[in-house]
Formats: sequence, structure tokens, C-alpha cells
Amino acid sequence: MGAFDWFWKAMGSTTERNNKKSKSVVAAAHELIPELSSLDDASLAAAVRGTVADGAIGDKPRFLAGLSVASERRLGLTPFNVQNQAVLRLLEGDVIQMATGEGKTLVGAMAAAGYALTGKRVHVITVNNYLADRDAEWMRPLVEFFGLTVASVTEASTREERIAAYRSDVVYAPVTEIGFDHLRDNQITNRSQTVQVPADVALVDEADSVLVDEALVPLVLAGSEGSQQATGQITAAVSHLEEEEHYTIDGEGRNVFLTDKGAEKIERILGIDSLYSDEHIGTTLVRVNLALHAKALLVRDVHYIVADGKVALVDASRGRVAELQRWPDGLQAAVESKEGLDVSEGGRILDSITLQALMRRYPTVCGMTGTAVEATDQLRTFYGLHVSVIDRAQELQRFDEADRIYATMAEKNEAIVEEIAHIHATGQPVLVGTHDVAESEALAEALEERGIEVNVLNAKNDAEEARIIAEAGDTGRVTVSTQMAGRGTDIRLGGADEADHDEVAELGGLAVIGTARHRTARLDNQLRGRAGRQGDPGLSLFFVSLEDDIVKVGGADEQITAQPAADGRIESNRIQQFIEHCQRVTEGQLLEIHSQTWKYNKLLADHRDILDERRAALLDTDTAWRELAERNPQRAAELDHLPQDVKEQAARDIMLFHLDDEWSEHLALMDDVRESIHLRAIARETPIDEFHRIAVREFKDLANRAVDKASETFAEVAITEDGAQLADAGWKRPSSTWTYMVSDNPLAGSGNSVISGIGNIFR
Ligand code: ADP
Ligand code: MG
Repeated sequence: MGAFDWFWKAMGSTTERNNKKSKSVVAAAHELIPELSSLDDASLAAAVRGTVADGAIGDKPRFLAGLSVASERRLGLTPFNVQNQAVLRLLEGDVIQMATGEGKTLVGAMAAAGYALTGKRVHVITVNNYLADRDAEWMRPLVEFFGLTVASVTEASTREERIAAYRSDVVYAPVTEIGFDHLRDNQITNRSQTVQVPADVALVDEADSVLVDEALVPLVLAGSEGSQQATGQITAAVSHLEEEEHYTIDGEGRNVFLTDKGAEKIERILGIDSLYSDEHIGTTLVRVNLALHAKALLVRDVHYIVADGKVALVDASRGRVAELQRWPDGLQAAVESKEGLDVSEGGRILDSITLQALMRRYPTVCGMTGTAVEATDQLRTFYGLHVSVIDRAQELQRFDEADRIYATMAEKNEAIVEEIAHIHATGQPVLVGTHDVAESEALAEALEERGIEVNVLNAKNDAEEARIIAEAGDTGRVTVSTQMAGRGTDIRLGGADEADHDEVAELGGLAVIGTARHRTARLDNQLRGRAGRQGDPGLSLFFVSLEDDIVKVGGADEQITAQPAADGRIESNRIQQFIEHCQRVTEGQLLEIHSQTWKYNKLLADHRDILDERRAALLDTDTAWRELAERNPQRAAELDHLPQDVKEQAARDIMLFHLDDEWSEHLALMDDVRESIHLRAIARETPIDEFHRIAVREFKDLANRAVDKASETFAEVAITEDGAQLADAGWKRPSSTWTYMVSDNPLAGSGNSVISGIGNIFR
């Protein structure tokens, strides 16, 4: 914290003031409950609606009291004081920190209803499809009580269902579906084709996952058509390069750099002057880089497999083939070429947007999560959001043990099995959090060898996972799962029906074991938070080895000495502190990557705003017709015989075609520029400044070019009663589009771990 101590103190005191204020509002609400309880449903709903003044909730105590009574009547849940406080903070636009199991679903629905009553449309953003459906159905009776409408959108929703759902007051949906629909909506040529309507508020569940961990994941809309340039020659040239002499790999194995010697060798083989010349920097050099990346950093059977003549990505965090995921297009082609396969038709990227850019489009963003405090920095820097900490309804009874540290991975793994067996022997349920599916499976096997029955969550589908994890707190259960699996599902002691609650509580509640510390303390805490729900007893314990990734990466340049016991265990405060240090280093690295990457994305996000405005003008007015007619009055006169609406739509189709076409080109170009930009650092230019300079120039050209080309098309293309015959002129929109997430999340350590719920709507 250092120099910013004063800042944190100031932040702390506002939080306290806010808490005091909301506590007094909640107390006042209590006083009103008897009065409101005496009302019938219709009068109660009217009383709550009556608290709205000037587009906001005016009488907050009455609002909360009314919602409490309605919640009791419709859901059988009487909100706790802390839940009411949380609702107030959400209505102020904060991210609230509220522990797992404290009832954030109800809090979110109450706040969403509050926003909706003031006339705002709310998207409640869930981490997966299953939770979108579950929460919408669970909370429907409460939201509808006030005459508001509620719906969910999931991967399975049809176009018609989506259109209806998005017009509801409160929409539950995973962020991926919202993003894909947004991208598709940016391809329409007539307003009547719109699926989404704008929302005013994003209320994000598990806010740190969406807003921080997956912030930089791009959602992509691609279309069939377009050609892949021949990459074979470049792959062949790159295959002659040797590590160290011709290229170097950075310490973390994330990036590969061509050396001067390497560049010379490529230039010689390809017979070109300079890779860094204007002619080659945006084209050949980019492809050389991609080929080098494919050669040096991507390992067959680790990062991808080859099956049926195709490259299939392996999802590292889930340890199996990631269906319908691709690397960014050029890289996919480079890997195919490296494997000697047919280079697939790339499918042209029509548009893409990162989750961060998507979320920043909402006028109001608020959210809830069990782990917000550790993300305070990111939430403030990237979204201007403030974190409010909500107390637990009941005091935490979980015991967090100190880490168990071992010298080697093998010793650690043995100790983990030993400890689970030990706890299991008492009947206490154990939930083990691993870092990937491979680890989960190895551990399950080791446990089964010792006769312990294990439930492994293997991410087959969210609903199935939810069912398994709901039982993880039952007597004698051992459940092994990766970080994200089963999030959002309540783990009750004694099973989902809590039949054996007291017996399990007696045994110590749920024991959570982490097989390694994560790259941020926040992720550790997400796992710990699974135990000790609503005042239940519980235990959390992490194992660490000096061979773990976090130690290798975070403590890379440091010498440590330790005296392990015979079983490899190291009990030393100094080493424990060293582990904490390593985690702080990896945390810092992630924050730095996030800032850097966002600097690149921010400009494109700004450009997209300008583009959106232009698109809206073209869709909603006769701008297209007016501009084209002005440029070519003669052509306009030739079309006099056509009805005005036909002429306007024809002009719209022409303008939008070229605008979208140019935007797609722009994205591809900027991607390429970014790939090659670090090489310009060699030429002593600051990469980000250089990137900005090129992006601004190119964007300006884009706007002009789009109108010029539209103008040419307007002059040439046949325009009939049926509109502009663009396809005949070779200006064809893709016949089909599909959506995917680029799996190269810069914030994911292993290169290609991905969030679940990839969209694959071919339509
Ligand atoms: P979170 O999202 O904070 O982890 P959930 O919304 O999944 O928590 O709720 C956890 C459990 O608490 C659910 O079983 C829910 O029914 C219960 N719950 C929530 N609010 C209340 C309340 N006011 N009174 C009783 N039970 C509640
Ligand atoms: Mg939840």
C-alpha cells in the first residue's frame, strides 16, 4: 500500500459511513413491517411501487420492508438484516462482498426489482446457463409480485425466446450469451431484426470472475467466407530456427521472440529484404511470429491433439478437448500448417468484444461476490467501482489452518492423500479443490486405491455438477473438483436435505482442502468460502510444495534454503512468508498484464462506441439514403420510380455492408499490429504509443473508406423493388455465423484455460 495509505484510510471511512447509514435504514424498515404485513398483496405491491420518486427509490425503509414481506409471502424467505444492507449497497452501484451461502441470490433479485421499479432494465449476469435458469425461476414469484417481468436467456434459447426475454424488466443470463447476442445485433441491417434491447443496469453475480478473471476474454462472431493465406512456406522457413540462436522464450513460457539472427535467417530463406519493412511488418512478420509461436510454445498432446486430420484444442483447466474453441485465426492456421494438415478455412472474424468492454457498456454496473475485497484495485481501476463489505448474518466458525508445505510435489501429493484419508475416517465430508482435471483424476485414483469412494466433478454439464456438489456436505463424502466447478450451488451440511446436519456439524462440518495455492489469494478464498456456510463449523487447509507453479513463477529469482523433515514437510515461518511473497508477485504480474492488455483494448472499445453510433444512425434514420443521394444525385434520380422506403433500405444495406466489412478488416489489422508491435520496440518506439498512432489513423481511414466504397456500390449495384442486389455484385454477407470465445485468456496462467459455456449457435 505504501504511498497510498491515506487513500485506503479514506476509503475505509466512507465504507463505514455507508454501513452506518444502511444499518439505520434497515432498522427503520423493521419498524414498518407490521404495518405492511397487514396489507393484501395488491396494496402491498402498490405501497412498494409508491416508494419510487424521481427515478430512484425515495423511501428506502418502506421499500425494504415491503420487499421483505413480499419475499416472505412468495419465497418463504425473510431477508436477514445483512441482506437488506446489501440490497441498499447494490442500489448505490457498489460491488458487495458477501460470503458464500449468505443468500446473494435473494439480495440480487431484491436489488434488481428495486432498479426495475424505477424504470430501469436489469441484466442479472450469472456464471453459467444453469444458474441463469435456476435463479430466474427461483426469484420469479418475488419479481412478478410487483407487476414486473422476468426471464432468462441461455445457450438453449431460440431467437424468438431471446427477443421476448430481453424485453423483460429483469433478465437473467450468462455473460457469454449477452455478449454473443450483442455481437449478432451489430450485424443487422434493419431495426426490426434486433434481438436485444439496451439495458441500464448490469448486476453481476460472482462479480470478480466476470469483471476481473475473465475480463480480457474476447467473444468472437465469425462468418463463413474469406480465405486463409498460404502459411506453408513460412512454417517451413521457421522450422529451421534454433532456440537461443534464432529465438528466445521468456521465463514464463508465454512469449517467444525472434533474435536478429533469426530474422536474418528468415529473410534469407524467404528471399526478402527486411521483415521490418513497411511491406512485411503487418503481414509476413505477423505470420512468422505465429508460426514461431506454434513451433516453440504449443506442444502436441499437451496444448492440442491431432485427430481426424484436425487440430483440437485441449482445455488445460478441464483437461479434455475443448469443443468449438479455436486459437485466434492465424495461430490456428499456423498450428495446422506445423502438423502438415490442410489449413482450415479460417472463417472470417466479423466482430469481437472483450467481457470488460461489454460490461463497460452498461450505464450502471454493480455486483456481488464472496471475494471482492482482494479485487478492490481492479474494480476501481477498470470499472470505477467501489467495494462494500457486508457482515455475515452469523459469525464465521470455519478454522483456516496454516499451509502444509512440502519440499517436492511427490511428497505433497502423498501427504494430501494421507490427510484426506485421515479426515474421511471420521466421517467428516471433504471437498478437494484441484487446479485441473488431470490432477483431479490422479487424486481420485490414488484415493480409490485406498478404498475411498470419490465423486469427481468433471465439468460435463453444469446441472449435473450442481446436483453432485449439493451433496458434498453429506457424511463421509469425498468430492474432488476444479475451481469453477459447481460454483453458485449451496453446500449444506448433511446433504442437500440437511438430514444429517447436526451429525456432520458435530464432526466439524465440511473440510475444504486446496492442493496448491492459487495465483491470487482471492481464488484461494473462493475455495475456502465453500466451508463454514451460515455459521456452520468448517475447516480449510492448503497444501503447497516448493515445486508448485506459484513458487516457480513468483519466486523465480530467489534462493531459499529449508530443512525438510523425513517426509518432506517444512515447518518454518520463513518459508510460509516466502510462499505469501510468491503469491503477491504472481498477483502483481496478473495486474500488470491486465493493465497492459486493457490499454490496447480500450482504444478499440472507444472506436466501437463511435461505430455503434454510426450504425444506429444508419439503422434508425434516412442518413444512408441522404448521404448517398448527395454524393450521386444522378443515380438517386434514376431511382425515382422506387418507393421511398425501398430506396432507404437499399441505401442502408449498402452503407452497413461496407461499414461492417471495414470494421472486420480493422479488427484483423489491429490484431496483427498488436502481434507484431513488440517487435517495433526493437526499433525503439514505445509499443503502446505506436499502436495508438496506427489505430487512430486506420480508424479514420476506415470511416472514409466505408463511405467511399458504399458510394461506388451505390453507383454500380442493381437496385430494384426487392432492394439492392448486393450478392450479385459479390458483396455478400456471410451465409452463416458462429460464435466462440478465444481461449487464449491472458489472465489465465496456463495459456488456454477457458470459462465454461461456450456458445455454438450455428444459424
Ligand atoms: P450465495 O449465492 O450467497 O452463496 P445463495 O443465494 O445460493 O447464497 O443462498 C444460500 C442458501 O441460503 C439458499 O439455500 C437460500 O435458500 C438460503 N437463504 C437465503 N436467504 C435466506 C433467508 N433470508 N432466510 C433463510 N434462508 C435463506
Ligand atoms: Mg450465489
